[in-house]
Amino acid sequence: ITVSDLVDESYKRIQEVDDKVQAFLTLDEERARETAKNLDAKIGTDESKGLLFGMPIGVKDNIVTKDLRTTCASKILENFNPIYNATVVDQLHKADTITIGKINMDEFAMGSSNENSGFQKTYNPWNLEKVPGGSSGGSAAAVAAGEVPFSLGSDTGGSIRQPASFCGVVGLKPTYGRVSRFGLVAFASSLDQIGPITRNVEDNAYLLQAISGLDPMDSTSANVEVPNFVQALTGDVKGLKIAVPKEYLGEGVNEEVRQSVLDALKVLESLGAVWEEVSLPHSKYALAAYYLLSSSEASANLARFDGVRYGYRSPNSETLMDLYKNTRAEGFGDEVKRRIMLGTFALSSGYYDAYYKKAQRVRTLIKKDFEDVFAKYDVIVGPTTPTPAFTIGENISDPLTMYINDILTIPVNLAGVPGISVPCGFSNNGLPLGLQIIGKHFDESTVYRVAHAYE
Ligand code: GLN
Repeated sequence: ITVSDLVDESYKRIQEVDDKVQAFLTLDEERARETAKNLDAKIGTDESKGLLFGMPIGVKDNIVTKDLRTTCASKILENFNPIYNATVVDQLHKADTITIGKINMDEFAMGSSNENSGFQKTYNPWNLEKVPGGSSGGSAAAVAAGEVPFSLGSDTGGSIRQPASFCGVVGLKPTYGRVSRFGLVAFASSLDQIGPITRNVEDNAYLLQAISGLDPMDSTSANVEVPNFVQALTGDVKGLKIAVPKEYLGEGVNEEVRQSVLDALKVLESLGAVWEEVSLPHSKYALAAYYLLSSSEASANLARFDGVRYGYRSPNSETLMDLYKNTRAEGFGDEVKRRIMLGTFALSSGYYDAYYKKAQRVRTLIKKDFEDVFAKYDVIVGPTTPTPAFTIGENISDPLTMYINDILTIPVNLAGVPGISVPCGFSNNGLPLGLQIIGKHFDESTVYRVAHAYE
């Protein structure tokens, strides 16, 4: 089998299913085939080969790719062609992967269903009436539909883990700082992390290996050693101490979801792990703190889209102020505007202490909840989402119901720790469910070990 065969397979599958799934926004076929040919020439020679030699990959459209349209699924960046690569994209090239194309998402990664894309909805491959989750819904759907074996997503409040759970694939949000954010279009800089979405845990560990490490271009990337994640997949969880927060199995969590987690815990128990119930007492404030902080950061980050520097510019403006206003009014979708307004309000003088500062304090308490639990336990286990994938249109008119979907993933971002979603069975109506495994700072190895033993 050649790399060209793999690339063929990927585009063939896209041709077959993507008019239904609609995961891709832009394909990069010509370049992909050319790169494949170059890699094929290395086969059978002793030229060095990258860690993921010849593997097709889809990249979420908020990760910038040189000379390849990068839209963040926003009209405001509809024709934006970056002049440089994100660090992760350079790392992928070094690993010899092949970028198949750019993938749909909620506009600027704000959303939980892909319904906020400025261009198209992505549909859940398991049931086309259901959402794939979001905001990396396209990345999860593309892997679930067999269009690509690997994809990259980004996770600010659950955007890798929730769609992985809805689509029955494996998605990991690394520790904050593990993966460079250089070239990831910022939504909430203190929470955003790029991470891998794959069909199984081993592939996931390989992809994280390829994109991890200190980057001088990102001052928040961490100078910590990158262990060999694949070597951590020993299958051994004997004596492992699992904490199960009671808040993660209580009110608002669907019965089937609860049951699937209890079943997964039995499997882990049979492998020699032990589990106990614990409490993350401040998790009930996580959603409110997250929406305040993430919207505040977003309002600052998205100020750069002014019609002058990037992408779309409104054609009918008399004055500079009108140009800003019209460009932003025409270019941003409703959800993005909602967050910018909320964030601008929360940061305005007179309200700053009451909202932003208070939310920061809550964040500290949430972080401490995790530290307390991790003083005694190796991992935290619970569901990824309170329900399986919901129906398209079901939550779109009610932002609050939509936000509640992320209640179990958001605390992990606020604490900065790593978390994975692995498939753990199906609901009665045949939709995949996800098990969330959360680890200590920079301890993706243990998270992977548990996920792999369970899988
Ligand atoms: N759904 C959450 C939001 O809308 C999380 C998004 C994300 O992780 N990018 O903010």
